[in-house]
Amino acid sequence: MDQLRFYSTLSKKIEAFKPIKDKKVNLFVCGPTVYDFAHIGNAKTYTQFDFMVRYLRFRGYEVFYLQNITDIDDKIIKRAAERGVGWKKLAGEFEQKYLEDMQALHNTAVNQYARATDYIPQITKQVKVLLGKGYAYKTSDGIYFDIGKFPDYGKLSGRTEGSRDDAVSRIDESRDKKNKNDFALWKFSKPGEPVWETELGAGRPGWHIEDTAITESFFGPQYDVHGGAVDLIFPHHEAEIAQMEAASGLSPLVRYWIHVAFLNINAEKMSKSKGNFLTAREATEKYGYRLLRYFFISQHYRTTLDFSEQNLAQAKGALTRLDEFVLDLDTRYEDNKNQEDTKKLKVEIVAKLDNDWDTPGAIASIFNFIRQQHTRGKSGKNVYRLFQELNQMFDFLDFGVPKIADGVQKLVDSREQLRKEKKFTEADDLRKKIAEMGYEIKDTAEGVKVNKI
Ligand SMILES: [Zn+2]
Repeated sequence: MDQLRFYSTLSKKIEAFKPIKDKKVNLFVCGPTVYDFAHIGNAKTYTQFDFMVRYLRFRGYEVFYLQNITDIDDKIIKRAAERGVGWKKLAGEFEQKYLEDMQALHNTAVNQYARATDYIPQITKQVKVLLGKGYAYKTSDGIYFDIGKFPDYGKLSGRTEGSRDDAVSRIDESRDKKNKNDFALWKFSKPGEPVWETELGAGRPGWHIEDTAITESFFGPQYDVHGGAVDLIFPHHEAEIAQMEAASGLSPLVRYWIHVAFLNINAEKMSKSKGNFLTAREATEKYGYRLLRYFFISQHYRTTLDFSEQNLAQAKGALTRLDEFVLDLDTRYEDNKNQEDTKKLKVEIVAKLDNDWDTPGAIASIFNFIRQQHTRGKSGKNVYRLFQELNQMFDFLDFGVPKIADGVQKLVDSREQLRKEKKFTEADDLRKKIAEMGYEIKDTAEGVKVNKI
């Protein structure tokens, strides 16, 4: 097989992918700040990374996919105060909701979620190293990174200055800073704010330091892939590079930086003030995870995606054509004549995806294949097996779980989840409930099958 290549924001080139160690891949994606529901843009970002990780695994790489959860931040403190609840309670609630939303979207590739507040000792240690090496300094309100001491600052984004448009820059304002864009590593807590008593003084971590403390804990000072949405390139990812490379003296922190493009709604930037805001949860309930996954994956990750009823209707049309083909496959039928075609399709899909994750190209290959198969009469087992294999990464195909009511499907999914968690009694209760609704469940080697009684 050929070589996987993809674009890295650091080199601004399409590069051949070579992990630091053999086929082991250490991969980190910035997780959510848990102060509100995940929105549809987050859903797109995480679905596209879920797909990439699944593809790496499909390709034989052994991926450790790590995601952080920012559970302490100005936004959380502010929202908790507005709601009159404790910050920890608020963060805990939205963390739970985030995990549910990811599960509902079938974004299941993450190996480990790491909460910022569980890494205070590691954060403290990293800030101490930066202070010791002269890259950080104390002011009256916190400890800051001195970007004047790190000449490589800006190498990822090509920028060193923030601007008013950086909606998520979260550039820390302080009168005592040496440079305008110096960022907080540690913030001394104001009265009433959450506080950790550490050697750095009573305070809480800055936003950027949690990522490098977490990735250093799992991967060490250098690793393979870091991902996130494009809005995180500056200053967040620039700050991560500065922190870790300054602390370790090793460069680069990360070999390959992958950034996924934005999602617009009806060609406009999504924002609460424009009233075009949609949560991941609302969208999944309205459209179903299969259509959303198909829609997100069928677009190239570096192209801005326009979320509109028209585009969704088009995606739905395409998904229906796929469904009709897959549901029509007769698995009792040995279609050996198709062996060559299926092999060819797999090679073609891998070639497309190896080329900077060309998902639109890969999906076009599937549709060409379907057109070709229609001219050859009945398709059976071989094609079925290949599509099942492909679905390990796409996860938007429907294999003949009979068309059942949405409410029933939800119960079936919940039961599957319970079984995974080995809660068999609760799972069995759901099976009975599903039976009362007129459906019978069978657990088979190929997965769960649902039939009308
Ligand atoms: Zn991050």
